[in-house]
Amino acid sequence: MNILRIALDVPLATLFDYLDGGSAVQVGQRVLAPFGTRKVIGIVIARSATSELETSRLKPIIRAFEDEPPIPSATLKLLAFCADYYQYPFGQALLAALPARLREARPASLPKHIAYMLTETAQQGGIELIPKRAVLQRKLYATLRDGARDSIALAQHASGWRSALRAMQEKGWVRETELEQFSALGAAVSAPPLNSDQQQAVQAIHDGGNNFLVWLLHGITGSGKTEVYMRLLDAMLTDDESQALVLVPEINLTPQLEARFRARFPGHSIVMLHSQMNESERLQGWLRAQSGEARIVIGTRLSVFTPMKNPVLVIVDEEHDSSYKQQDAMRYSARDVAIMRAKMANIPVVLGSATPALETWHNAQTGRYRLLTLSERAVQSAALPVTHCVDTRRQHAQDGLSQPLLAAMRKRLERDEQSLLFINRRGYSPVLLCGACGWVAPCTRCSSRLVVHLRERKLRCHHCGHEQRPPLQCPSCGNPDLHPTGHGTQRLEETLAQHFPEARILRVDRDSMRRKGAIKDMTTKVHANEVDILVGTQMLAKGHDFPNLTLVGVIDTDSALFSPDFRAAERLFAQLLQVAGRAGRAGKPGEVLIQTNFPDHALFAALQKQDYAQFAQSLLEERKLAHFPPWCFEALLRAEATHFAPVQTFLDLAAREARAIKSKITLYDAVRPQMERLKGMERAQLLVQAASRQTMQKFLQAWVARLRALPQANKVRWSVDVDPLEY
Ligand code: ADP
Ligand code: ZN
Ligand code: ZN
Repeated sequence: MNILRIALDVPLATLFDYLDGGSAVQVGQRVLAPFGTRKVIGIVIARSATSELETSRLKPIIRAFEDEPPIPSATLKLLAFCADYYQYPFGQALLAALPARLREARPASLPKHIAYMLTETAQQGGIELIPKRAVLQRKLYATLRDGARDSIALAQHASGWRSALRAMQEKGWVRETELEQFSALGAAVSAPPLNSDQQQAVQAIHDGGNNFLVWLLHGITGSGKTEVYMRLLDAMLTDDESQALVLVPEINLTPQLEARFRARFPGHSIVMLHSQMNESERLQGWLRAQSGEARIVIGTRLSVFTPMKNPVLVIVDEEHDSSYKQQDAMRYSARDVAIMRAKMANIPVVLGSATPALETWHNAQTGRYRLLTLSERAVQSAALPVTHCVDTRRQHAQDGLSQPLLAAMRKRLERDEQSLLFINRRGYSPVLLCGACGWVAPCTRCSSRLVVHLRERKLRCHHCGHEQRPPLQCPSCGNPDLHPTGHGTQRLEETLAQHFPEARILRVDRDSMRRKGAIKDMTTKVHANEVDILVGTQMLAKGHDFPNLTLVGVIDTDSALFSPDFRAAERLFAQLLQVAGRAGRAGKPGEVLIQTNFPDHALFAALQKQDYAQFAQSLLEERKLAHFPPWCFEALLRAEATHFAPVQTFLDLAAREARAIKSKITLYDAVRPQMERLKGMERAQLLVQAASRQTMQKFLQAWVARLRALPQANKVRWSVDVDPLEY
């Protein structure tokens, strides 16, 4: 058994055989192996006595990392399943799931608690080393003067500590050290008594036992879903070994959740895993989950693959959120992988949402998932907001703002309450238009228009990042009078400043929140009532809890009402319900005003009643007639190249191969996506539908094997997207 079958990070769907060179390396362990002229990291998947290749042609591995704990077989099995299901090379899927440190050719240090301490220089120099205005650094200095502290302790002392600490590390004032082990943080914050909906939910899941079941916890924002999760953890993490995985869609929201979980479970080691952590922290978190020391793992998409010794529960919060779907490399859905993981481990999984994905809702309706409902807000005084449409066919919206909306905002200003204006477009205006000939500034690399960013005096492509100065005159007719047309966040901010010169306005979008810690500062300001009007994109829609915010204005959603994307209505409803949820969270009643040309649209009626169930039902019926998911299963073959001809050739051949396979799939003609050109690449795609997952999977297996064998496959960039969300 001296032959090792090894997974490597190469785009081939196969394992590679090597000789073990006398090492005792086990399945799941890392090795360094020669590959062509390179040395690469691989994972041992099996030992074998034989190889399809002649033994004399096999090379020995260079070294084995025998001291490291092997990746558990459950993790390898999960990734193998995903590689199969999503038609992606196993080795690449596996290595991409590991923390970056485990892809490097040096031994990984075993779990330790990284802490931070002052250096000699800093101790001798005293706090005077640090400029007075570096308030946070001074605060950290004062904390560390009492001894080494880990990140958890620092986070409790000073919010936004990370960048301050980094600055101090760069100055040579702070360095990393190790603490012996996890130390409990004191007494737990006590839990509120559950209301009856919550109680029923906790009881039902508990009574469901320790085996695989999918629960859908449906409840509007503020109905107490997180409280239910925490009670479940309380009930299920009873022995010393059991662990739970909690997935959250966005790192922006993890600090709030982290604080709540740490306060409630000070005696459990909690590990956070997301992309804003440094690599050594990620490795340590991963290893602590794997060793069983970490009892609760909270993380974003990628953490669904974190190895655990004894998982008993998986929770997916905001399960409908599209950020669970990876949009490159292996295009997996972390929500679906979480369900598969729970199935393989035979443990329950809880999906939570106010607006479940229609696929999930459908499964709950047909009884595959069990539905639990939280029907009211948990805090008694927090009433639901009242929603109205402003009919912009009658109420003309000048510069994007209608009279009723302006009046409602004025009322808030008089009462010292806050307003939020939601507009899903950043920048000043979406197009630069020549009024004489109709020319609009295009992106040269994409089939899109350049967005005007007036303050920076730039035109910018939001798809590829291309930037240029605005032309002084129309390149088509020479007219020097070019107009920014339409509204973005910047323009709305400017217009508001004219209407309400006395108001304090804060813009929240990807441009204004680019700086690290900016979001945190924004929330602090809003809570301190230093802001009267917030103008922002979907960034503002989620999670934030602003007690003094009583008005939400939605500027322009009509384009989404009639989008060619069949999921647009579902997304819009989720988004609007979520923004609406920002209003009136603490006692003061909230109001939502939606400007639209189509106030009679069914979506708004459902929104007014906060009736997700009814709206979902009507969407499901529409989709059934149109034969869209969840009534069928889809896969998309995407191809792109710098010229269109090879794309067309490849897709023609791919279609021919598909027809040669005996299968009950429906194959559509190749089409150009909405963005025909992206980043200088010409794109097209083929859609496949099947009535069942099995049919689709069997077909894809045969098809992708054939595609890989096509010589034309090397002339284009292509990928398969199983269960695609974007077209
Ligand atoms: P969700 O996750 O559904 O948005 P949360 O669990 O965050 O809801 O609860 C919303 C608010 O209500 C939080 O401030 C929470 O502390 C509070 N809350 C939740 N359950 C209860 C309860 N049973 N009694 C009192 N307050 C509760
Ligand atoms: Zn012109
Ligand atoms: Zn572009």
